[in-house]
Amino acid sequence: MAAVAVARRRGRPQNPLTIVPPADVVDTVVLMDLKVNAKFIHTWITVDYETTRNWLVRHRLLANSATCRQYHRAMRLTKCEELEFDKEQWRCRDCSMAQSIRKSSFFEDAHLSLMEQLEIIYWWTTDNSQVAIMLELNVSHKTLID
Ligand SMILES: [Zn+2]
Repeated sequence: MAAVAVARRRGRPQNPLTIVPPADVVDTVVLMDLKVNAKFIHTWITVDYETTRNWLVRHRLLANSATCRQYHRAMRLTKCEELEFDKEQWRCRDCSMAQSIRKSSFFEDAHLSLMEQLEIIYWWTTDNSQVAIMLELNVSHKTLID
């Protein structure tokens, strides 16, 4: 966080073009070899929105940048408090087109926070039953199948 504050004082644009520094995005090979367990996810990743989002971006599960379809310009990550979950979106400075940070990702259509979704994916990939997932995550059946 301190590094971000310093960067801002030096005149870095407030709305960034990427979520994490591009060099932080892992190689696909790393992704294939990824080993996480529930405790790791819960302790280190789903602690808050930003940590979850950055982890998903670094592991290529969310895009690190977006391009405006109309002018093919790089969009900027912009705060948007009206959004139900992410409170930010990509926005083009030229045409004001906005785009969800979830676009074209696994998370695009779900009505859950990124934190909730990541935990659900974990429980699913480890072959837990829906009932076990609901108990573990305290979510309703309707939420789970959405
Ligand atoms: Zn545009």
